[in-house]
Amino acid sequence: MEYRLRHFIDGEWRTGGAQGTIPVINPATEEIVSETERGGEAEIDQAVKAAEAAFNGPWSVITPADRGRLMLRLVQRIEEHKNELARMETEDMGKPLRDSLGDMDGVKQTLEYNAGAADKLQGDTLPLGPEYVDFTWLEPLGVTAHIVPWNFPLGMAVRSLAPALAAGCTAVLKPAEQAPRSALRMAELAVEAGIPRGVVNVVTGYGLEAGAALVRHPGVSGITFTGSVETGRQIMSQAAAGLKPLVLELGGKNAMVLFRDADVDRAITDALDGAFGNCGQVCSAVSRFIVHRDIKDEFLQRLIQRSEMIRVGPGMEDPDLGPLVSRGQYTRVQEYIQGGIRDGARLLSGGRRPDGLVKGFFLLPTVFDQVRPEMRIAREEVFGPVVVVLEFDQDEQAIQIANDVTYGLVAGVYTQDISRALRTARRLKTGSVWINGWYLGGVQAPTGGVKESGFGRERGLAGIHNYLQ
Ligand code: ADP
Repeated sequence: MEYRLRHFIDGEWRTGGAQGTIPVINPATEEIVSETERGGEAEIDQAVKAAEAAFNGPWSVITPADRGRLMLRLVQRIEEHKNELARMETEDMGKPLRDSLGDMDGVKQTLEYNAGAADKLQGDTLPLGPEYVDFTWLEPLGVTAHIVPWNFPLGMAVRSLAPALAAGCTAVLKPAEQAPRSALRMAELAVEAGIPRGVVNVVTGYGLEAGAALVRHPGVSGITFTGSVETGRQIMSQAAAGLKPLVLELGGKNAMVLFRDADVDRAITDALDGAFGNCGQVCSAVSRFIVHRDIKDEFLQRLIQRSEMIRVGPGMEDPDLGPLVSRGQYTRVQEYIQGGIRDGARLLSGGRRPDGLVKGFFLLPTVFDQVRPEMRIAREEVFGPVVVVLEFDQDEQAIQIANDVTYGLVAGVYTQDISRALRTARRLKTGSVWINGWYLGGVQAPTGGVKESGFGRERGLAGIHNYLQ
């Protein structure tokens, strides 16, 4: 792919952006890998018009079964190009190459699941009595907007794009400015797979320019956003003007609760993946361990021992952990770490760059103990490889600590007692609760938040209904 990236609108590459370009920086080397167009109002308008034309034109006359078939052809194209796509993501946002490749499997599964559902979306007949016939039709919303973050560039894009396409909608995607390449390439592959031009459009640029213009555009009938709470709020207030339906998946401050009878072996393995995988840059990462007093010392000791074995390095060398995405993110995470120390938490491990890595936004897995629930580091989303350990004695206390944050995305419960597990799960105020596991579920299982983690459910059949009316 060329060094200078372009928008992908109506099946072709287009330049545009009154304000020039945005550099895409490899976080492992701090070097510029490409430049992306800084699109705004004009490019968004072109993309929405192309999506409207496709929605009213070619996409509307393709049968649902054929929509599904075309999506499966895109799966095939992604499979053929997965190395290229994975490499782009690793260079753009830093994660180990093997993880980027694994993410492509997730992208394919998401497309496959939704492709299979395309011809199974049916309405009801309604029993009003002998004098009447009444029924419902499910109709696609129209042109949908997808604004996504950089942590799983194509994964997040396809999570909402696939159900939108299955439902018969068309789309304008605004990828994150830090990692736009795989989404652009995917849009090109979609056209190569036979999906009509204009069905999938990608406009790159900053959130406040391209993103905000997309939210405001009157041709957009629904908006799906994944990102920070603050940006979610802004989008919601902007969307209010056009009364547009929203799906918002925002942050989390997710707790893993370990009762006295927890399987600590299992919990440790899950903890390392859940807390430090993708460098902690996952909405549903675990960032708080709430551990029963009797097992806390053992848990902490093993957590630290294992986290110190994690190899941190450039994603292209396939370490366990890559760098954080950007200098901005690196600085933000460092501020949280320093704040934690100032507030009196005890830094047990990490908190600094690994030895020998002078360039790049690298940070060692970081563990804090002696944390009080009211400290910022225990309440706010850090979005980095930083965890806090809190202690409890009675079950009730664990639930109270877990719920005492503004977020409510996911939680995990570790116990051998099924009654305790279910009782606790019911009381935890999060969209999902996992029992004796982390990152459970799959493309079939709806996910999403409560409280300030957002609303609306993605994945599963619920995810497709976001794009139907
Ligand atoms: P982060 O801080 O992790 O980058 P954001 O929530 O700011 O998370 O960004 C996620 C996505 O939202 C990105 O694609 C970004 O460009 C976009 N974005 C940011 N601000 C706005 C906004 N005001 N309106 C629309 N999109 C936005």
